[in-house]
Amino acid sequence: MKFTVITLFPDIITDYMGQSMMWKAQKDELIELNVINLRDFGLGDRKTVDDAPYGGGDGMLLKPEPAVAAIEAAKEQAAGRHMVAMMSPRGDRFYQSKAQTYSTTFDEIIFVCGRYEGFDERIRDYVDVEISVGDYVLTGGELPALTIIDATARLIPGVLGGENSAAIESFTDGETLEYPQYTRPEEFRGEKVPDVLLSGDHGKIQQWRDNHSQKADKHQT
Ligand code: SAH
Repeated sequence: MKFTVITLFPDIITDYMGQSMMWKAQKDELIELNVINLRDFGLGDRKTVDDAPYGGGDGMLLKPEPAVAAIEAAKEQAAGRHMVAMMSPRGDRFYQSKAQTYSTTFDEIIFVCGRYEGFDERIRDYVDVEISVGDYVLTGGELPALTIIDATARLIPGVLGGENSAAIESFTDGETLEYPQYTRPEEFRGEKVPDVLLSGDHGKIQQWRDNHSQKADKHQT
């Protein structure tokens, strides 16, 4: 699966994607990253991408011409089934179940990351969806894009080590959170690993895990 990110800060994306599992997934050709610098589509000698809002108000808005040109350039090189996703606190909320849908539905997602006060309203006509990662406001769309890329990529078969590690995690069935887990040592500062986990009795271990999986009633899926 291919992930294209349109951003004014490409290093944020390449730094994160250059580490650990996301890096390995690219090396193994399970995912492909394409970063487009919005600045390259800026206007005039100064490569301007933003301007003050009509009607007044604080901060700068991303202008429509560079953002739409970048989106169109990304779409020209897009793979198969793709969608253009604008990162926006106003957008539809991102959940684990959406990561699952994305990982099986699309060959490419093109992310459009805002900065400053966000986008000129007319840019919205050139995207397929607007996505929010939560009810809080960040300074840019890069962390939201990386959040969605990471959550989606790790569901692609082969990206995680063990076959089942994604299947038994929190939210996967839409209802439960993962049970508590322990590794060595058996005792840490007086706190012991529950006996049942050392028993080797797989039936009992499963029962203990089921009993200790919390209901995710505070979360929507
Ligand atoms: N003035 C805007 C916020 C702009 S924040 C407003 O009040 O809605 C700057 C950029 O950060 C946004 O354009 C968006 O791309 C990104 N961003 C901030 N918070 C986000 C969130 N919760 N989800 C997705 N993107 C977010």
